[in-house]
This record gives sequence, C-alpha cells and structure tokens, in this order.
Amino acid sequence: MTSAKPRVLVLGAGPAGIAAAYRLSKGKAEAEVFERAPVAGGNSTSFQIDGIWCDYGSHRFHPVADPNVIGDVKALLGPDLLLQPRHGRIRLGGRWIHFPLKLQDALLKLPPAFAASLIGDMAGKKFRKKSTGPRSFSSVLYDGLGPTISENFYFPYVRKLWGLDPDKLAVTLAERRVSGSSIGKILGKMMRMVPGLRGATTGRFYYPKKGFGQISNAMVEAAKGQGAAFRFGADILRIERDGTRVTAIVTREDGAEVRYSADQIYSTIPLTTIVRLMDPPPPPEVIEAAKAIRFRGMILVYLILGTKQFTEYDAHYFPELSIPISRMSEPKNYNSASGPADRTILCAELPCDPGEKWWDMSDEELGRHYCDWLGNLGLPVKVPVIRTETRRIAHAYPVYDLDYQRHFETVDNWLSTLEGFLSFGRQGLFAHDNTHHAFAMAYAAADVLTPEGKVDRAQWAAHRREFEHHRVED
Ligand SMILES: Cc1cc2nc3c(=O)[nH]c(=O)nc-3n(C[C@H](O)[C@H](O)[C@H](O)COP(=O)(O)OP(=O)(O)OC[C@H]3O[C@@H](n4cnc5c(N)ncnc54)[C@H](O)[C@@H]3O)c2cc1C
Repeated sequence: MTSAKPRVLVLGAGPAGIAAAYRLSKGKAEAEVFERAPVAGGNSTSFQIDGIWCDYGSHRFHPVADPNVIGDVKALLGPDLLLQPRHGRIRLGGRWIHFPLKLQDALLKLPPAFAASLIGDMAGKKFRKKSTGPRSFSSVLYDGLGPTISENFYFPYVRKLWGLDPDKLAVTLAERRVSGSSIGKILGKMMRMVPGLRGATTGRFYYPKKGFGQISNAMVEAAKGQGAAFRFGADILRIERDGTRVTAIVTREDGAEVRYSADQIYSTIPLTTIVRLMDPPPPPEVIEAAKAIRFRGMILVYLILGTKQFTEYDAHYFPELSIPISRMSEPKNYNSASGPADRTILCAELPCDPGEKWWDMSDEELGRHYCDWLGNLGLPVKVPVIRTETRRIAHAYPVYDLDYQRHFETVDNWLSTLEGFLSFGRQGLFAHDNTHHAFAMAYAAADVLTPEGKVDRAQWAAHRREFEHHRVED
C-alpha cells in the first residue's frame, strides 16, 4: 500500500516559492502555489517593452551559486542560458572605471590623488585609530577599508540605496553586502580578473535570452510538469491558526471565500504581511515588532530611445549623491543585443519609498529628470526619447537599521513556534540576498520536509545557520 504524499501550500511565486514547488514536486510532496501577481518571478521577473526584454533593474545570475542550483538552471534553460562577460562602469573620483574593478584600468584611470589616498589607507591601516562607540555599517567599513573608499564609494551609495546615513545602518549590511572588507581583499579580487589568473566564469554572469525572468518561468513549467499547481492573482485574506498550529489559508475567488488546508504552509511573502494576515493575530509585541520592520522601495524608470544602442556597457554604477539613481542598465546589452534594431532602453534604479517626492511623479516628469541626470554625468541623451515607462516595487531591499535585528528576531522567534508553517526567501527571512540564495533556501526547505509532512526543525536550524553566510553579489 502506498501512503499519500504530504501536501504543501506555497505562498508567493518569486524565485523562492517557485524553487520550493519545483523541488517539492519531484516526488516529495503535492505543491500548490498562491501568488498575488498575475505572473511568476517576483522581483526577478521580466517583461517586454517594445520588443526588448526588461528586468526590475540589473539582474544577473551569478556563477558563485551552489553547483546544484546552477546545474538545475542550466538543465532547464539549455542553450537559452548565455554566459556573458561583465562590462560595466562605475564613477569614482569623477572618472569612469571598469566595474568589476580591473587592476590595470584602476591604475590608469583613478585620479592620482585618489589612488594615493587609497594606498595611504592600506599602508596606514595598522596605525589607523579605530572607531569608538556602537558598531555600525560605517564603523566597520571605516576600520576595514579606510576613509577614501568608504567616503567616496560605500557611504554615499548606501545613503542613496537605503535613505539612511551609514552610521544608522547595522553591521549586518556590511557583512552581507561588502565582499571586499579590506583593501587587500579588493586587490585580491582584482588580481583574479587578470587574464591567465582568472577562472572560466570569473568576470562573467549567466543570463537567459528572454530576460532574467526566463529562469523563473522555466522552473514554473518544470514544476507544473511534475504536478505542481499555480494560482496567480490569488488574494490571500487570512492565515488561520489553532493555537500554535497553522491550519489553513483563506483566499477570495470570484467574490467567495475559499479555504485551503495542508500539512505545511511554506511562505515566501514578506514576514510583515504574514503577521498582518494571521488569524487570530499574534501577541501585541509581535505586531509592534512587525510594524517597525521596514523594506526599501524602488522605482524602475525605463527610458525608451530611438537608437540601436546607447552605450556598450551592461550597467553604470553611480555612487555619488548628486544624482538619485544608484544604477543604470541597458537591457539589450545583457542578452547580446536581441530586440529591434531601431531602439534601446535605459533602465534606472531609483531607490525611493512611497510618499517620497519621486514616488507619485508622472512617467514623463521622471523621464525628463533622468535625461538631466545623464547630461550632468557626461552622458547626454542626443537621440530621440520615444517615451518613459516606470514600474514600482515596494519590497526591493530589507532595511537593516540599527534596531532591525531586535524587531526581526521578535517576529522570527514567534513564527518559529508555529507548527505547519515555514517562512523563507528574501521577504520571508528579511534577507538581503541574490536569486541563487533564494533558490538555496527553497531547496533546503523542501529537503527538511519529512515523508509524514512534518518539518525537521533541527535540520532547518542548521540550514538557517548556513544562510547567515550568504553574501550579495552586485
Ligand atoms: C534592483 C534589484 C536588483 C537585483 N539584482 C539581482 C541580481 O543581479 N542577481 C540576483 O541573483 N539577484 C538580484 N536581486 C535580488 C532578487 O531579485 C531576489 O533575490 C529574488 O527575487 C528573491 O526571491 P524571493 O522569491 O525570495 O522574493 P520575491 O522575488 O520578492 O518574491 C516574493 C513573491 O511573493 C509575492 N507576494 C507578496 N505578497 C503576497 C501576498 N500577500 N499574497 C501572495 N503573494 C504575495 C510577490 O508578488 C512575489 O512574487 C535584485 C533585486 C533588486 C531589487
């Protein structure tokens, strides 16, 4: 006699939710995914504008991903997965430098005074007075990297990205985001870019022919083929619990309430939303903590230009505070210029929260500002601007302010007491991560499901410790 497989409801069809359904439906469980949006992919989705595949800002699949994850992505996409050379630029000291940094380029192009200060910071590290007071993003960077790179690159960049001063941001951000925590490590990375010293994927990234979202779409199709079900446009009204046991989710469909129950609910939606949807509500201190947790929003501004190509670069990085965009990408340069010959698109990432002045601005007005900013940077738009489109995402980045850890732990500890419920992914664990990390979390979540439909909590705790080592690639 064969026993029935456990049933798992997955909330959210971003990379984490999709990968969970994909892995679970490989014979381990019956999976059914509930996604609010009409399409898959979450922040990693893609869509076409005028025949050009666009992402929510620059998205690359990084070759440092776990080999299991890379193996699956390669198998799912086949020849549609391109291995592309990284070819970006960053503004440092008023000059354009290749990004990722290359030794020769940096030596030749960095302003001499800037380079001299960097060398001085490296030589003087031992003698530098360590910051006093509470540790923060700024003290860790200042002590590790010195003033030149901190003040000219990291500090203005994070101020722009998170809307907070670097001394108001937690150490975690430095740990997760800054892979070169000393000038020696940055030089080591640059050395690995030197031809002859670099590996097959150094300075390269994977990118699908039909936009980054093709990865999610391919995984959805594979999961469906294995029996997983997907419900897009799902409106989750509440998550029901009986004491510490989560029993069901309730959705609204065609005006009526529908109740779904299962052995497990795997959630990848924001943990703040989970607290809001929980019925009965969590204790007051959990509700208060969830209210104090903040996500940074972003406007993606797509400038549609009547020309074949605007620059040869995939991305431009703008650390300086004089313009509010943090990065600009030219989507055609990610998939080897596929798309119409008479136009290209420039996608700007404008970090911004609802309520800030940019949030409610019209597309045309944002487009005009965008052209002005480019002009100020020496990249004047001299070709016809066909029009501007925008997309807004409310949960772009978790905000690691100085108090976030306390609030996150209050919510996370309470969620961890619930049976039949597991929260993971970028939004579920408030993790500043890459897509391959979301996949790794989802695979781990699928692996800890027992044949009886329970979660092996000890194994999950071990995986959570591994996730602490995830480091963001830009
Ligand atoms: C500007 C930018 C650039 C990035 N660049 C890269 C990059 O180059 N490489 C890389 O690997 N990663 C990059 N990332 C990170 C990447 O986008 C995320 O790691 C990834 O999307 C996380 O997947 P997730 O499934 O955990 O979360 P998400 O993608 O956020 O998915 C969560 C899903 O839950 C759904 N949801 C939310 N609320 C509800 C609800 N109430 N009911 C039902 N569904 C709900 C959402 O609609 C969404 O589909 C970038 C992110 C940003 C913002």
